[in-house]
Amino acid sequence: MNVLIIGSGGREHAIAWKLKQSSKLTQLFITPGNAGTSKVGTNLNIGVSDFVSIKKAVLENNIDLVLVGPEVPLVEGIHDFFLADDALKNVKVIGPQKYAAQLEGSKEFAKKFMIRHNIPTAAYESFTKDNLEEGFLFLEKLNAPYVLKADGLAAGKGVVILNDLLEAKNELRDMLSNEKFGNASSTVVIEEFLDGIEMSCFILTDGKNYVNLPSAKDYKRIGEGDTGLNTGGMGAVSPVPFADDEYLNKIEERIIKPTVLGLQKDNIPYKGFIFFGLIRVNNEPMVIEYNCRMGDPETEVVIPRIKSDLLDLLIATANDCLDGKTIEIDHRSAATVMLVSGGYPEQYQKGKVITGCENVSNSIVFHAGTTTNDINEIVTDGGRVIAVTSFGNDFKEALSCSYKSINEINFDKMNYRKDIGFDL
Ligand code: ATP
Repeated sequence: MNVLIIGSGGREHAIAWKLKQSSKLTQLFITPGNAGTSKVGTNLNIGVSDFVSIKKAVLENNIDLVLVGPEVPLVEGIHDFFLADDALKNVKVIGPQKYAAQLEGSKEFAKKFMIRHNIPTAAYESFTKDNLEEGFLFLEKLNAPYVLKADGLAAGKGVVILNDLLEAKNELRDMLSNEKFGNASSTVVIEEFLDGIEMSCFILTDGKNYVNLPSAKDYKRIGEGDTGLNTGGMGAVSPVPFADDEYLNKIEERIIKPTVLGLQKDNIPYKGFIFFGLIRVNNEPMVIEYNCRMGDPETEVVIPRIKSDLLDLLIATANDCLDGKTIEIDHRSAATVMLVSGGYPEQYQKGKVITGCENVSNSIVFHAGTTTNDINEIVTDGGRVIAVTSFGNDFKEALSCSYKSINEINFDKMNYRKDIGFDL
């Protein structure tokens, strides 16, 4: 089977690395990929939203299955594009259609879905510029901190949490009237602040049946002790030590099953991954967000822990045959630490030569923002550059292995968090 992975991050390298191990794989392509994916498959220099060029590549390379890594092409309707084109009708797509992708692409859609299906989540109301005044009144009724969320995709920047009521009102005005996040903030969800510890769960579903993937916890802030600006993610661990069987069972019964059942009740087809962003409040799980794809860097710890053939599971998903499929999980812990460009998540430079990856022997080096230069050196090409994943008997052992491996790797102004897992 020929497979195309769409995307270019550590997530896509981890998926490519895993699919490469499948006996069912013939050829593997990645659009656009990175320096790491070029070692396990063939990179095609096509952007993730260039559906017409992706179609051409799919036909030219006899691709049987397309796995969509990031959310943007899903929210833009890549799956629908494939379904609508006769020439692509035999190509399977892993990733939901545009309507279902609103679970991530519209926070209001996701909140309505959760309320409709009785899935625990923060109380909320949503507002547009036509009812700004009502938004102010709603804020006045809430206690600080105030959680304001741009409805649409805003590259992880659309959630603002403020302690001061006046600042919250100004922010609401900025989002709605001044289009702070463009069209993404033409609707704003304001919700009750939840105080608790976060983690994520993941499933692969054919829309009816599903398999549970390992859970994970990621670290979003740039600074140690979870301080400073938000990033795409600075590291992750799996499994999550505080998520014991009882807690995981609550998540499955109260959140995962009602979500999959809710999709069926609403007649929403869904083939792909669902990411449940969760928070534990008084030992009860609540949903902070859905994502319609795997997380990054969570994938870099979740995928290595899957022992089963991932391609086999993807084929079963595409063919509506997940029923009865089981998944074998490595019981060791996995941890990943992200190496980022100095200055990220603000201004940073690209093109720094990366050395030493080949000296790492006890960890897996997943590339994210990397490429090769004219003289075939591996160089930085983004904010998040490399994820170093290791196994251990517990997350501390796994982390200590990753930190040792990091000592082998270098590029100018390399930065990383030295305290992943500090709160566990
Ligand atoms: P991501 O960067 O994961 O894509 P996002 O922009 O889609 O995030 P959310 O996941 O909804 O937005 O929120 C981002 C973060 O804000 C959460 O991980 C959580 O830390 C915090 N947050 C969101 N909603 C709440 C809430 N109701 N109470 C407390 N914290 C919240």
